[in-house]
Amino acid sequence: TDAHLEAVETAGALNAFVHRTPEIAREQARAADARLKGGDTPAMCGIPIGVKDLFCTRGVPSQAGSRILEGFRPEYESTVTTRLFEAGSVMLGKLNMDEFAMGSSNETSVYGDAVNPWRATGSDAPLTPGGSSGGSASAVAARLCLGALGTDTGGSIRQPAAFTGTVGIKPTYGRVSRWGIVAFASSLDQAGPMTRTVRDAAIMLGAMAGHDPKDSTSADVAVPDFEAMLTGDIRGQVIGIPGEYRMEGMPAEIDTLWQQGIEMLRDAGAETRDISLPHTKYALPAYYVIAPAEASSNLARYDGVRFGHRAKLAPGDGITEMYEKTRAEGFGPEVQRRVMVGTYVLSAGFYDAYYNRARQVRALIKRDFDEAFAAGVDAILTPATPSAAFPLGAMADADPIRMYLNDVFTVTVNLAGLPGVAVPAGLDDDGLPLGLQLIGRPWEEGALLNVARCLE
Ligand code: GLN
Repeated sequence: TDAHLEAVETAGALNAFVHRTPEIAREQARAADARLKGGDTPAMCGIPIGVKDLFCTRGVPSQAGSRILEGFRPEYESTVTTRLFEAGSVMLGKLNMDEFAMGSSNETSVYGDAVNPWRATGSDAPLTPGGSSGGSASAVAARLCLGALGTDTGGSIRQPAAFTGTVGIKPTYGRVSRWGIVAFASSLDQAGPMTRTVRDAAIMLGAMAGHDPKDSTSADVAVPDFEAMLTGDIRGQVIGIPGEYRMEGMPAEIDTLWQQGIEMLRDAGAETRDISLPHTKYALPAYYVIAPAEASSNLARYDGVRFGHRAKLAPGDGITEMYEKTRAEGFGPEVQRRVMVGTYVLSAGFYDAYYNRARQVRALIKRDFDEAFAAGVDAILTPATPSAAFPLGAMADADPIRMYLNDVFTVTVNLAGLPGVAVPAGLDDDGLPLGLQLIGRPWEEGALLNVARCLE
């Protein structure tokens, strides 16, 4: 714990940790020592972790990367952090992220950009660690903590993992409780671990997962020993290779990486099979209707009354001005864009044309996966991202849709509620990490991580 606290102190330039909690860490470390001495060795005993700022942590600032939650210190602890603490984890602090988890570069954060340790200094512009869990990825890659909590609504664990050479898994929807996590798009959000190795991800996921009566969408499904499932034996398994993920304009190095992954799994004794997921091309547009729709509803609670920031009012201002000024000051431009889009697609005149249509597309995307699994496919291998990490600022003035294209390989998995893991799989021509994604059957995170292990 002391070594990691020191590392956090000296790595300020990465802007990964936005609130440090050394007192809590030392107290938890002492408690872990006492448990070890007493012969009690829970899975995460004494393991220093970082927590994405989206999780409510009791008495500790929890701002979701937003100005509107300035000064908010929850009186309660999220289920996931509660479980990790019970399992002996040590919290070093809270991690940077895109505002309300909306973004793919950590540039929408009120705390400023998090930086990718693979290129943080030098004459070339520093690189993004990805987003929205950019601080989590940066911290794990820079060895500031042994594991970090991320959340993934459309790729926010897997894309930053791919950009930083770390492992990140988005579990099956319902595997991990969402209670006490600031909501973005409730039907898509899942929390998951970001770690250096697949084995660490298995251990940390096991400590987080399980049914929680406080989250009505959390599933009452037994949590197996994920670590014990990492036998490395994948002989006879069928790995689907979806043609629709071979996208036009995809850089050759991504294609090469994918091919290498296919060969590694074959060498390990798996059979690879070309499959079709025909509705893939509609996933991104459907996601960028459904996610903003749910976000516009979830973010209605930030009204200047209940949480955090409230704008200074002028004489004569009424409650409407208070809402308007508070939300205009408190939300950044990307969040405002999502609220506007979401409100529009849910409005009476457009609900059927956009929101209902997107929900129908979502059902078709899920059916594509169901059919592949029913035909005997055990897991699906795709690239995790369409490129390696890009320089901070490179997309600042671009059309927002260019940023949204980062999620092209990951959003399908959230729309279908499936588990997906990003594994570091190689380096590009500039020596930057690239990741592959494996998508699994519902509730089969253990089997999925076992395949992922073969790519490490
Ligand atoms: N980049 C995507 C978005 O901006 C995904 C974010 C996430 O998974 N939280 O919505």
